[in-house]
Amino acid sequence: MSDLRDLYQEVIFDHNRHPRNFGKLEGANRHAVGHNPLCGDRLTLYLKVENELISDVRFEGMGCAISTASASLMTERLKGMKVADAETLFGRFHDLLTNAATDDDTASLGKLTVLLGVREYPARVKCATLAWHTLHAALANQDHAVTTE
Ligand code: ZN
Repeated sequence: MSDLRDLYQEVIFDHNRHPRNFGKLEGANRHAVGHNPLCGDRLTLYLKVENELISDVRFEGMGCAISTASASLMTERLKGMKVADAETLFGRFHDLLTNAATDDDTASLGKLTVLLGVREYPARVKCATLAWHTLHAALANQDHAVTTE
């Protein structure tokens, strides 16, 4: 696991140790479960979407530092964002992580750029994108009723 040392920048460390928006979200009207078998990361994402706006978002689960930090950074970014803008951001983030050639638009990612270091480690890309794939699934599943049981 020594190849991870370079990835563990201060922000990733911090978000892994103290994940933002962690826990179940009461009143969520979208949710999805994500699993990355390659690493063993599992997370559940909860969203409250009102008038095409993500008014609240939380996640829970267990995963490696990269997947936890990515989910934490994502939820921080998504709160108050329009659904369409979140989908655009997902696409941009995913493209930058999976295609190292498109380096031209990293500024719009803001703090999320700390995760781009995983491009050097293809096995870790799935850890970094897990939360985002789960977001995509949650947003697509519009009729899913979430129980609070
Ligand atoms: Zn992982």
